Amino acid sequence: MTKLDTPRIGVLAIQGDYAAHATALAEAGAEPCEVRKPEQLAELDGLVLPGGESTTMLKFLDKHHFFLALKEFCGRRPVFGTCAGSILLAREVRNPAQRSLGILDAVVERNAYGRQIDSSILTAETLLPGGPLEMVFIRAPRIAETGADVEVMARRDSFPTLVRQGSVMAATFHPELSADRRVHRFFVEIVRASRAQSKAAQAGATISI
Ligand code: GLN
Repeated sequence: MTKLDTPRIGVLAIQGDYAAHATALAEAGAEPCEVRKPEQLAELDGLVLPGGESTTMLKFLDKHHFFLALKEFCGRRPVFGTCAGSILLAREVRNPAQRSLGILDAVVERNAYGRQIDSSILTAETLLPGGPLEMVFIRAPRIAETGADVEVMARRDSFPTLVRQGSVMAATFHPELSADRRVHRFFVEIVRASRAQSKAAQAGATISI
């Protein structure tokens, strides 16, 4: 694969399991990059918001004047939020309510499946080809409501666990903790397509000058 096919995907590296995401992205054909400063966003084709503790991440984002830059980036480039990351992306957060980026048209309830000790691993069908997918849940949130433009790609009971809204993806589980790379590969494809589109748009703009 040439460098041109290798999108540069950041992982917000404030707290949580960002290192496992970087490994998963590399295995899925991307060039991962740990992101700790807003200036780094300019170099990226896409971004992963990892699992961890969403309240801690919010505090860091506020302290470092990162929240608005992140919101702006998520509005123009593909983003994938897992677990705490899905909480950050949501339109509305409950249990308790907290501020979020409002990028994904969904209502997310924090810690909806109980405490840390209730964390679990399930295997379920998804829209991804290749059979059932392992899903690792750790103090997972629950996607309680989704808007009309949100495609549900997997569920736990009747609630969505993997969703996509255009170039925004969210999982309430931790795909980076399983050996299966289908979820990351799917996101890398979204990033590749978006990058090709913006390059074509740039070329068009240059020609019309
Ligand atoms: N419970 C965490 C939160 O509310 C999310 C847990 C996780 O990311 N594994 O932010």
